[in-house]
Amino acid sequence: MRLIKPTERGLYVEPGDFYIDPWLPVERAVLTHAHADHTYRGSKNYLVSKEGERLFRTRLYNEGNIETLSYGKSTTINGVKVSFHPAGHVLGSAQIRVEYKGEVWVASGDYKLTFDPTCAQFEPVKCHAFITEATFGLPIYRWTKPEILFEEVNEWWRGNVEKGKATVIFAYSLGKAQRIMKSVDHSIGKIFTHGAVERLTRDYRETGVDLPPTKYVGEVADKKEFIGSLIIAPPSAQDTPWTRRFGAQSTGFASGWMRIRGARRRRAVDRGIILSDHADWDELLTAINATEAEQIWVTHGSIDILVRYLQSIGKDARPLETKFVGDAPETEIADGEEGD
Ligand SMILES: [Zn+2]
Ligand SMILES: [Zn+2]
Repeated sequence: MRLIKPTERGLYVEPGDFYIDPWLPVERAVLTHAHADHTYRGSKNYLVSKEGERLFRTRLYNEGNIETLSYGKSTTINGVKVSFHPAGHVLGSAQIRVEYKGEVWVASGDYKLTFDPTCAQFEPVKCHAFITEATFGLPIYRWTKPEILFEEVNEWWRGNVEKGKATVIFAYSLGKAQRIMKSVDHSIGKIFTHGAVERLTRDYRETGVDLPPTKYVGEVADKKEFIGSLIIAPPSAQDTPWTRRFGAQSTGFASGWMRIRGARRRRAVDRGIILSDHADWDELLTAINATEAEQIWVTHGSIDILVRYLQSIGKDARPLETKFVGDAPETEIADGEEGD
């Protein structure tokens, strides 16, 4: 039985009559996480993780009937058992497990296995069929350990302090920004935020995530405060007059795409920080194996390459069409609305 099917509105669970991350309005939506390409407004009923509730309410403008379910707990929708399991991607991100007449499917949403101090760690879930993302589904994508990466970021920031410069990092405002502020060495200097980052950081704090003090850029009267500080802003703020207030500055862009030299050049920043909230090649294979799934459906990214590789090692793998696009390197996403 094909429990989860792609339709023009999104991934549809027919016996339960609900959709997972639908991109068009539906009667009942079950969401994996609050990134823009997974959380669309306009549906009537939403089921989201308890851990991500504040982020979802912000992203949905609190519209629709929003119900929550904690990780590991289950509910039944029209006879289909539904539960959420940590995906390790951003705060509240969930893999969605659905079970009907003994058949178990898991839709991963976006996920990573690397430790992230701002969200729950990925948990493998055994299933018959696993729908995996493949954003970075190429063997060239292998992430540096966060400890090593953030030591490099700290050194760069310290160097900028010595030169009397501000350090500006462009990073997605949901997830990446909070991971950066939590992971850098706060003793180096003050941390300031763009409004889009500050808004979501508040949701993180109100959910109970312990983050260092940050100050919204708009509340700073004396520009001298920015000297030697770290400013975290969404990619959409790059090359806008907004950045001029910081004076002499060194800029960085944090993304898995920074692995690619061309992407770094196009971004025209001083520093490419290879930091992703998605699984790298090894993590994808580890996660897929851990599910012990008989069938793997691949979506969101380097679909064909991952499908062919999985088939070559004897797995039943197939592509799955969806509209999750948030992470395409060419995609410019407005106003901190993002994916990667
Ligand atoms: Zn996504
Ligand atoms: Zn995402």
